Amino acid sequence: MTTTTKYIFVTGGVTSSLGKGIIAASLAKLLQAQGYRTTIQKLDPYINVDPGTLNPYEHGECYVTEDGAETDLDLGHYERFLNVNTSQANNVTTGRIYQSVIEKERRGEFLGKTVQVIPHITDEIKERIQILGKSGDYDIVITEIGGTVGDIESLPYIEAVRQLKWDLGENNGIVIHLTLIPFLSAAGELKTKPTQHSVKTLMESGVQADVLVCRTEHELPNDLRTKLALFCNVREEAVIQSIDASTIYDVPNLMLEQGLDKVVLKRLALESAKPDLTQWNQFLQRHKNPKSEITIGLIGKYVELQDSYKSILEAFIHAGAENEVKVNVEAIHSEHLNAHSVKEKLSHLNGVLVAPGFGERGIEGKIAAVRYVREHNIPFFGICLGMQMAVIEYSRNVLGLEDANSTEMDPETTHPVINLMEEQKHVEDKGGTMRLGAWTCELKAGSIASAVYNQELITERHRHRFEFNSAYREQLETAGMTPTGFNPDTGLVEVVEIPSHPWFVGVQYHPEYKSTVAKPHPLFVAFVNAALQHKNNN
Ligand code: GLN
Repeated sequence: MTTTTKYIFVTGGVTSSLGKGIIAASLAKLLQAQGYRTTIQKLDPYINVDPGTLNPYEHGECYVTEDGAETDLDLGHYERFLNVNTSQANNVTTGRIYQSVIEKERRGEFLGKTVQVIPHITDEIKERIQILGKSGDYDIVITEIGGTVGDIESLPYIEAVRQLKWDLGENNGIVIHLTLIPFLSAAGELKTKPTQHSVKTLMESGVQADVLVCRTEHELPNDLRTKLALFCNVREEAVIQSIDASTIYDVPNLMLEQGLDKVVLKRLALESAKPDLTQWNQFLQRHKNPKSEITIGLIGKYVELQDSYKSILEAFIHAGAENEVKVNVEAIHSEHLNAHSVKEKLSHLNGVLVAPGFGERGIEGKIAAVRYVREHNIPFFGICLGMQMAVIEYSRNVLGLEDANSTEMDPETTHPVINLMEEQKHVEDKGGTMRLGAWTCELKAGSIASAVYNQELITERHRHRFEFNSAYREQLETAGMTPTGFNPDTGLVEVVEIPSHPWFVGVQYHPEYKSTVAKPHPLFVAFVNAALQHKNNN
């Protein structure tokens, strides 16, 4: 097989949660910064067709791409690090692989053959890995295999990597294995045995790791690197230490110091140069040297799990650096909020963001929070469900429509100010059927939104079934809540503001998905700035 695209496979051993996604994104950053067009793909061994139907407690945030794929949150890291869009092809699950193979079988494409894991499932995996390479858009494709080596469900992926590495030939496909080097405090020692075992497990499947990236809490001494190289069959220069970092944005520089990019490029027979990280390092500089500090309340119902709001938290880091402010995000559980507790829980905040979400749990707390910040002139940012809550709150407390609600929460409400979208009315399946991906939005001149974007037409990513009910538009507008962003084709309201309030913006879309290190999202930047002003004025 002749190929121009080079492939890097990233596997994980010993435990999960070692940060394969961050290592993959950091390596990609270093390669991109040397001029290589690089993308990253995530293969997830679970059977859901995509993570769209998963509860955030299960799997963290569901990240949405421009083309409307509901994906693993690692794709968010890829976009934030590379500032390049990913797509449906960048995230594949076992469910999707099997779905596609079974559909082919039903169409008779296997010509009477018995359909088996090898070769049919592995062929499908290999094809999905190479789709990105064959597009001609990339010099290097990094494929991260989810899960841990040795898991039953990872086996077909490891087998596909073994075959593909062989098909691609020398210098065209390499394997980076990420493992853990635990520190035993009783012995006062770092231990290599789990890594040795995990490399051996990989070898039992016929895959030899080319590079070892070792997660560790302490510096790896040289003798330990020598030992790892000897037992794991890798060159000493290919034993890379990945020490705990204070921020994920330090990892590209840490990998650069360790020479990960050099080793990888050498193994791929590609030239290496000094990566240009100027812009990245300027961001780090601002991020690490804030001139002031603000506290933003993040109100949601999944706040126990940080990963549930990953993109929002990262967008605050980008926007904070842009403003040279440290943004402390205080997670507040919406179920702990009511008319009596809001003052105590919110009055010290410089800004409040009401998060996206689904279902009834915690919504009265969100509405109480919106009321408090609206009446107390605290900057407010509502995203998706957060925007819907702002509309409900205004309808109830300003228009006096006491039972105003979303039909998601109360199908019988006499004032459905948030309503199921027309095209959703006949949808029965839950998976992949929301209004998803990028849609154009037209901004009203003179609004906060149009000033912030400095543009009339924007595109933003969506993930919802319910919408602002235009029947209430005039009433709300007369009472002081102004729609300022619309879908140009349907007239659907995408943004609302309260012009008499210092900074009150609700958006039906998800700006957090588009914030990157290179391009912090303008709405987050403006919200952080408004919060800073609020702090300085009080
Ligand atoms: N549950 C709401 C809807 O479907 C909001 C969705 C969201 O916040 N992503 O419209």
